[in-house]
Amino acid sequence: MSTTSEKRTKEEKDEKEERREEKKERTILTEQFCPICGISSKEKKFIKFLCIDCWIAQQKFKIPEKIIIQQCRKCGRIKLREWTDDKSSIENEITRMCASHRDVKAKVIELTDQYVRIELEIEGTKFEREIPIEIKRTLCPECTKEVRGYYEAIIQLRLKSHERRGRKGRKEFEEIVSQLRGLKDRIQKELEKVTFVPKVDEQPFGFDIYVGSTSEAYNVLRLLGLKYTSTKKLFTQKAGKKLYRTTFLVRI
Ligand SMILES: [Zn+2]
Ligand SMILES: [Zn+2]
Repeated sequence: MSTTSEKRTKEEKDEKEERREEKKERTILTEQFCPICGISSKEKKFIKFLCIDCWIAQQKFKIPEKIIIQQCRKCGRIKLREWTDDKSSIENEITRMCASHRDVKAKVIELTDQYVRIELEIEGTKFEREIPIEIKRTLCPECTKEVRGYYEAIIQLRLKSHERRGRKGRKEFEEIVSQLRGLKDRIQKELEKVTFVPKVDEQPFGFDIYVGSTSEAYNVLRLLGLKYTSTKKLFTQKAGKKLYRTTFLVRI
């Protein structure tokens, strides 16, 4: 009798012991240690058997340490790869830089002047990183041209010769001049949407409008339905590239 009871107690004990062992093992299994740096999974996220940092290092996958963004101090446009005024294209570019590895997904969470916070996802493990941003104040190519007084074309806005002779009365002449000024403002406004106008000179019977881009000068004249004659002159030759200046004469 006593033997059976003792035996049963022993069995129960063993069972208890076994369960305890099992439980212990399970706790060990939930806590991982990185075989490279030894950090515990309680302190860092793991991807498979490695901690995130060692996984990244092993994959030779790089999260940029710093992102340098250029900003034009004149027009405010920004550049990472290309000049743009669209902040979302900068976000896309950062995403592309961070998700260069095929197993990595990246998403920009926050973008400020000082840092970008991104969420990375590797094999289902999500984690965040903050990358400092350095903004370099510079001049974009368009503003550089503008600052240097660069121009490719001149639109010469002139009164027709018979208007100049002042056959009409003074009042009518003033009316025509004011219309011409209005047209000059209109042309300038349209041009400034697409290029730059380094200067506008007032001439005895009209205006000279200097334009940063010949093709935009041409487009604006067409847009406003203005008739013109044009002359093209070789202005300079830089590194084998010919630079022309075009004069568009518009008679009103
Ligand atoms: Zn590690
Ligand atoms: Zn600029």
